[in-house]
Amino acid sequence: MSARILEGKVFAQAFREDAQKKAAALREQYGVQPGLAVIIVGSNPASQVYVRNKHKSCEALGIYSEVIEMPETTTKDELIAKIDALNADSKIHGILVQLPLPEQIAAHESEILERIRPEKDVDGFHPVNVGRLVTGQPGLVPCTPFGCLRMLELAGIPIDGQRAVIIGRSNIVGKPMLHLLLGKNATVTICHSHTKDLPAVTREADILVAAVGRPNFVTADMVKPGATVIDVGINRIAPKKLVGDVDFEAVKDVAGAITPVPGGVGLLTVAMLMENVVRAAEMQLQD
Ligand code: NDP
Repeated sequence: MSARILEGKVFAQAFREDAQKKAAALREQYGVQPGLAVIIVGSNPASQVYVRNKHKSCEALGIYSEVIEMPETTTKDELIAKIDALNADSKIHGILVQLPLPEQIAAHESEILERIRPEKDVDGFHPVNVGRLVTGQPGLVPCTPFGCLRMLELAGIPIDGQRAVIIGRSNIVGKPMLHLLLGKNATVTICHSHTKDLPAVTREADILVAAVGRPNFVTADMVKPGATVIDVGINRIAPKKLVGDVDFEAVKDVAGAITPVPGGVGLLTVAMLMENVVRAAEMQLQD
């Protein structure tokens, strides 16, 4: 039997509607319009597309949005001064520095991201937000893994007591995913390039999350029949062809539910960013 296909657009639409309703409630009850500032340094074409999408998404949902374009030659101090100004700007509830940064400042990425006030850190990368996630306190959570968790919940897929296996231990996907699933009482294993006999581990998973960055890495023999398979990977294998980390065609005949690529997790990320901007505005009202 073929797996249930978890269509990203269906879940993304639900998250956007939720963010739009909450943004409207903030305006009506407190006269506050949630606001996002995205800083883009340099002219990376892919980054420009991502930033435009974020701006359009804000406009569609009634979220104030500013795009700050800084030249390729921007210094670390200039970027930090901009972040400081946005930290102090009451119209702005969320600040995002689009990555990757140009080469001359890329080495200062941590220092730059840590300059964002944790309450405005809508990417959820600040160590304070990481610490809040690990200790189970409310904070801002990275958009992609947060979207995966919310999708599982909305799809009615059980998490409590289930075995979850994540392939990939990055700070932006794998590790936050571990803590989100653990917070929902899954028994979680995280795998990486040093994991021995990976297929034996992944076959234990009721929920398998692939965040590796290798095309068709997860094959059908690595998946337990009936498992839910979440494919976070985005791999460009030809100018116009994107594939995930999961061999979708083969795995869909084994899994119980699966996300496609494209059309899966990728669509959740911007929707969850909107949700994070609204959450940031709500949290700042409580300060
Ligand atoms: P990273 O490159 O930071 O991490 C990849 C992880 O995969 C590492 O932990 C690495 O292990 C592990 N890995 C690599 N090879 C193997 C192997 N042979 N066996 C087991 N584990 C392995 O990637 P990201 O987490 O940033 O991204 C992962 C994928 O998700 C990419 O395709 C990226 O494009 C995509 N992505 C998609 C997003 C979306 O919106 N849908 C958002 C963010 C990312 P080790 O640590 O040992 O090196």
